[in-house]
Amino acid sequence: AKVTEHLKSNNGKPIFSIEIIPPTKGTNINELLNAIEPMMELKPPFIDVTFHREEYFTKQMPDGSIKEIRTRKRPGTVGICSSIMNRFKIDPVPHVLCGGFTKDDTEDLLIDLNYLGIDNVLALRGDFAKPYDTFKPKKDGHQYANELVGQIKNMNQGKYLHEDAEYLNASDFCIGVAAYPEKHFEAQDLEQDMENLKRKVAAGADYIVTQMFFDNQKYFDFVNKCRAEGITIPIIPGLKVLATKKQLDILPKLFYLDIPEAFRKEVLACENDKQAKQIGIEWAVQQCRELIDFGVPALHFYTMSKSDTTMAVARQVF
Ligand code: FAD
Repeated sequence: AKVTEHLKSNNGKPIFSIEIIPPTKGTNINELLNAIEPMMELKPPFIDVTFHREEYFTKQMPDGSIKEIRTRKRPGTVGICSSIMNRFKIDPVPHVLCGGFTKDDTEDLLIDLNYLGIDNVLALRGDFAKPYDTFKPKKDGHQYANELVGQIKNMNQGKYLHEDAEYLNASDFCIGVAAYPEKHFEAQDLEQDMENLKRKVAAGADYIVTQMFFDNQKYFDFVNKCRAEGITIPIIPGLKVLATKKQLDILPKLFYLDIPEAFRKEVLACENDKQAKQIGIEWAVQQCRELIDFGVPALHFYTMSKSDTTMAVARQVF
């Protein structure tokens, strides 16, 4: 079923959903499935599976020469989606990227997803891979996520690339897009970022998932602004449970977000990561309770394919 249908399935109460990340290359699929299995106790109706671009780096060879290496460290998004359907009977939501794909690659990928019986995708631009310092699409790839949404929407209407005919047997993907309550780092300001989000919605997005945030007020303000701008589709809050002291520094750098001062102080006062994790769990529980009161359609957890902190929070709020 579609994510938008799942969101309506719980009598107005929010649903529990998760995002997982493919393991590094060479891992047995059962390691991943076993690691996420404890979360199935709470029956997430859908599971997002991230997609990762190839990465480039250079390596000095024994003969002194420099070799450029290109690898995809976390392959397997589509296979993981299929395994999730087989083992857990849950709808997977593969992330689909502009970066690293030509439009033809994207079309082929979408056809595979359709043949696998996958009903949902999250359409993203993707981050830039080394050695670039700005995003560079592949030749004949999409520059922005709104263009990718447009391609998926076209396919839903039976319009394929390089074909004059329109096909009746079209896909019918439910399309999610990303948004940033604290602004995407490349956008000049929240207004410019909002214009982009409106373009994605106009192109055919069915729902929005936000970047993680630790200050609920940022999410509330963002949702109110979206509604004032005429965006009516569901806006799912993305949540991360802080699990180590180091993440106080890492998360703001990676995701361009603020950590509320009160939370920072509490974590800094911890003697070790075990205590920090406990504070992280308590903060997330408090966040979830306020979000539920606000009327969110789902609580979506960025799990990094680990169950413990997410379950510690979710058991207290669902
Ligand atoms: P876009 O919507 O294309 O926006 C990118 C930037 O361009 C923004 O600053 C925007 O304001 C600007 N912009 C957009 N359109 C225009 C335009 N027409 N003209 C001028 N400026 C414009 N990354 C991965 O690699 N794999 C994943 O699986 C993944 N999953 C994610 C899941 C979620 C829920 C979120 C929030 C992010 C995820 N990311 C993932 C990260 C994401 O790819 C990056 O944040 C990326 O930098 C932006 O992606 P986007 O789809 O929001 O881009």
